[in-house]
Amino acid sequence: MKIIRAEHLGMCFGVKDAIALALDTVKREPLTILGDLVHNEAVLSELRAKGIHVAQQPADAGTRTVMVTAHGASERRMMETRGRGLNVLEATCPLVQVAHRSLSRLVREGFYPVIVGKRDHVEVRGMTEDLDEFDVVLGGEDVANLHERPRFGVVAQTTQPIDKVRQLVGLLRERFPQSEVRFIDTVCQPTKQRQNAAVELARQCDVVVVIGGTHSNNTRELVKTCSYFCTRVHHVQTADDLREDWFRTTDIVGVTAGTSTPDSVIAAVEKAIGTLAGKELSPAVCR
Ligand code: SF4
Repeated sequence: MKIIRAEHLGMCFGVKDAIALALDTVKREPLTILGDLVHNEAVLSELRAKGIHVAQQPADAGTRTVMVTAHGASERRMMETRGRGLNVLEATCPLVQVAHRSLSRLVREGFYPVIVGKRDHVEVRGMTEDLDEFDVVLGGEDVANLHERPRFGVVAQTTQPIDKVRQLVGLLRERFPQSEVRFIDTVCQPTKQRQNAAVELARQCDVVVVIGGTHSNNTRELVKTCSYFCTRVHHVQTADDLREDWFRTTDIVGVTAGTSTPDSVIAAVEKAIGTLAGKELSPAVCR
C-alpha cells in the first residue's frame, strides 16, 4: 500500500497567523477569543492549555482584550465590542478583508448584494451584518427564490468551491437576463489550491482520508469534492477516527486536510494509516 498527500493541504496562512497572534498576545496579557478561531478541537485544546479563553459573545469575555478570529466580523459588531470597553485585536485574514471590501464596493456602486455561502457561517455574518438588504445563496433553489433587481453584485464566502460559485453566478444570469450581474471572485487562493489538489488526489486513489473538524466548512467541501472522483472517502478529525477495514484491499490511500488542520494531526493520521496497514509508509506528494 502507498500513501500520497495532496500537493496543497492543511492549515492556511490566515489561520496560522491568527494562532500566532493569539499565542504571542497571551504571553503579555489575558486574552479571550470571540468565537472559534479554527474549527479544530486539537488546536482549540492547545490554545486553552496556554490559558486563552474562548467566548461566543463579547458579554461573556472574561478579559479586557478580545480577539476577532480570521473569519472577521462586521463593523457593527466591532463597535459594539469596543463600546463595552474591550480592547479588540483583529486577526481577520487579509483575504476575508478583500471579500468585505469587494462587497462594500459593489454596494457603493449600486449593486444589490448577493453572497454565495452559508447564511449562518461566522464569515458570512461578518460580511452581511452591516448591510440593510442582501441575499445569501448556496444552491440553485436559493437563486430561484431571488427577486429581480436591476443590478446584482455577487461575492463568495472565501472557502466555497469556485466551480460551484461560478455555476450559481451562471444560474443567476440565466434567471435574470435583463439584470446586470457583476461577480467578484473572493474565494481565497489557499481554498482553490486545496480543492484542485483534492481533485488530483482523489482521481489517483482507492481511498481518500480527509482530515478536519466536523464543523469546518472547507473540510466538508473537500470531502464532497473528493467524493465526485473516489467512492471511498472518509472524514476524520484525528487518527483515533480511522478504521482498519477502510484500508483492506487498498493500493493507494490519499490524504488531504482542511485549512484548520495542523501539520501534527496530518502526520499522526499518516502514521496511523501505516500502522493499520502493518507497514511503515512514507507519504509521497501527489502531483
Ligand atoms: S481559508 Fe482563506 S480566507 Fe480563510 S483564513 Fe485561510 S487563507 Fe484566509
